[in-house]
Amino acid sequence: MTDGPIYNRLALIGMGLIGGSIARAARTQGAVRTIVATARTPATRKRVAELGIADQVVESNAAAVEGADLVIVCIPVGACGEVAREIGPHLATGATVSDVGSVKGAVVRDMAPHLPDHVHFVPAHPVAGTEHSGPDSGFAELFVNRWCILTPPQHGDEVAVARMKSFWELLGANVEIMPADHHDLVLGITSHLPHLIAYTIVGTAEDLGEVTRSEVLKFSAGGFRDFTRIAASDPTMWRDVFLANKDAVLEMLARFNEDLSALTRAMRNGDGQKLFDHFTRTRAIRRGVVQIGQDSPAPDFGRPHPGLPAEPLPRPYAADNE
Ligand code: NAP
Repeated sequence: MTDGPIYNRLALIGMGLIGGSIARAARTQGAVRTIVATARTPATRKRVAELGIADQVVESNAAAVEGADLVIVCIPVGACGEVAREIGPHLATGATVSDVGSVKGAVVRDMAPHLPDHVHFVPAHPVAGTEHSGPDSGFAELFVNRWCILTPPQHGDEVAVARMKSFWELLGANVEIMPADHHDLVLGITSHLPHLIAYTIVGTAEDLGEVTRSEVLKFSAGGFRDFTRIAASDPTMWRDVFLANKDAVLEMLARFNEDLSALTRAMRNGDGQKLFDHFTRTRAIRRGVVQIGQDSPAPDFGRPHPGLPAEPLPRPYAADNE
């Protein structure tokens, strides 16, 4: 898609991985005419200016949104309400206000009351990321072929939503629209619970007395490594996610605990068939994920490694149905 610019002036509040990636992608794709950025600390603002990924770096959130027709708040979800309160009086008539928070219900609850009637609120969640933080970690291709979920209010302005959709599509994302509470349930199982499990298991391994730390690191390719990557995600961001999406995650956690108990029982009873059937079902899910392009079939689980081929290794031992 080569249409654009879709907006005249984009204000980015928060310039970490996501804000930094939006700035780079919006410029690369010509999605906006001008990018004005701000961040909480002078150190980040200075770094953004050095990187040259915004046309202007300003010192306050209020200054950033002046005259902007698109404002995207790219900060931890727990801070979104306060920032909305701060920018509310300075927003231009007809502007679209959005965010990128990993939880939507709490962000809508916290931000909406502070936004004037003359702006359009189109919350968004680009389902794309890495375990890295800060403006240096951003890159223009982050959103390519990833989902971006929009959760506009039920009677929101359709033109504003369509424009936001075009913006994210121009950045390479596939856009889906759904209610905020449904988003939180879906992401509760696909992202938040896996992160909680990863944070737990990495902590458990660290506590093991009889397995040394060096052994855990040495043999981490046996599955643990993938948990360590997820568990390296930003502590502030994830603290806020679990506090903000508490209900959905607790619901998913309760179901998870039931299923874990069932597998534990199968193991204790020596019920190999039950274990086999379960693992066969989950293997099919993994293949579905690869088939729809959400991960690579490469043996390094999508992380490029010079020593490994891009395609899966031949597996002569694999069964026919694999
Ligand atoms: P990040 O790299 O840590 O950057 C966070 C940015 O927010 C920084 O500019 C930081 O400013 C600012 N900030 C932190 N606390 C703040 C506060 N209390 N008030 C105002 N600004 C504050 O984080 P990120 O990964 O870009 O995440 C930003 C948002 O994107 C979060 O809501 C997260 O849920 C969402 N998200 C993240 C991912 C992911 O994988 N990382 C994926 C999708 C969505 P300073 O640098 O000046 O402190």
